Amino acid sequence: MHFSIYFTLNLFFYCASFDYAELLLNYGNCLYDVSTDIFCCVPAANNPSLCLHFRPALLREQHYQYLKKGLRHLSDAYECLDASRPWLCFWILHSLELLEEPIPTTVASDVCQFLSRCQSPTGGFAGGPGQHAHLAPTYAAVNALCIIGSEEAYNIIDREKLLDFLWSVKQPDGSFVMHVGGEVDVRSAYCAASVASLTNILTPRLFEDTISWILRCQNWEGGLSGVPGLEAHGGYTFCGTAALVILGKEHMLDLKALLRWVVSRQMRFEGGFQGRCNKLVDGCYSFWQAGLLPLLHRALFKEGALSRQRWMFEQQALQEYILLCCQNPTGGLLDKPGKSRDFYHTCYCLSGLSVAQHFWNLDLHHERVLSREENRLAPTHPVYNICPEKVAQALQHFHRLPVPSGDRASDPHPAAAAAADPQS
Ligand SMILES: [Zn+2]
Repeated sequence: MHFSIYFTLNLFFYCASFDYAELLLNYGNCLYDVSTDIFCCVPAANNPSLCLHFRPALLREQHYQYLKKGLRHLSDAYECLDASRPWLCFWILHSLELLEEPIPTTVASDVCQFLSRCQSPTGGFAGGPGQHAHLAPTYAAVNALCIIGSEEAYNIIDREKLLDFLWSVKQPDGSFVMHVGGEVDVRSAYCAASVASLTNILTPRLFEDTISWILRCQNWEGGLSGVPGLEAHGGYTFCGTAALVILGKEHMLDLKALLRWVVSRQMRFEGGFQGRCNKLVDGCYSFWQAGLLPLLHRALFKEGALSRQRWMFEQQALQEYILLCCQNPTGGLLDKPGKSRDFYHTCYCLSGLSVAQHFWNLDLHHERVLSREENRLAPTHPVYNICPEKVAQALQHFHRLPVPSGDRASDPHPAAAAAADPQS
């Protein structure tokens, strides 16, 4: 992308003022030499006529090359993520599946072997070999293995010990700590519910009181905070809501307050989402916030006449923000113009782009791919954020196996199977 686009958008972001944007548009004639860049980086929902002849493209090949290289080699800049290595596997593998790029068998097997070395002898997965088990890399590792979806991948997960690990981080009030001796927040409830439901170790007793604890995280704003009593935040709101969907209790949230909060987070000028009130737009919230809309649509659909063709956010404007403002011309996606690309933002920008392209509800499926058919990504499952067929395949595999027995585990949770189906 051209420097002037970055420069202009930075001005927009720093000024964060609609008046300023209008000023620039009014002065378009004076800025003639850069006007194409200015106008075409402005989402067309604000000014459709200006983008009539501009057809934004997903830089598929560049993203593929960036991702492929990242599976084998990471630069020094990633040293700080040494305790998040299963996340890197998940971010890259999920981005590749959204791009419908197959993973070579040998690479998939190498990833499996690496993740097996991250599995803790006490159950769950750590951020790297020899480190302590933690719920976040456990979620990432299980998702990565389900994306690979081979017998080798499934067999790596020690389900008995995974259940032991989940019990070791469960708290008496229903919450979970991220690791033994670690912090509590609603991410942990989602990570635990996600891996437990995918691998068929979810029991009602394991999640006793978890529902009421998550419900206490919804605050007066309508969104959810990390722990009860704090500010609503997109990432925590997704985690809490998705966990309740898995547990079959999302209807216990104030869904209309949540809907009002999340749709107000889509920036009227940029088209992307902010994570919290009064924050700047950020590409990763394309999934954490927009990903809530499929969950809400499913929950509210029973109550009234909702659209059968589109989510309750401006899908075109989000696609424009991602395609025009979040792509690095040499591959990879980013938070906002001026920021560096990274695998996290690549994964969540592409995941959000997929949500904006595909409407699913019950037996309905409706696509809205901006600009050109080549921009189309594969659909993603709104609860697990891996492709729906990989969710179905994992459930089919693990539901053939018994729920591990033990003092604390009991019957499988019937809601898990329902949450696993994005069309149900
Ligand atoms: Zn971000």
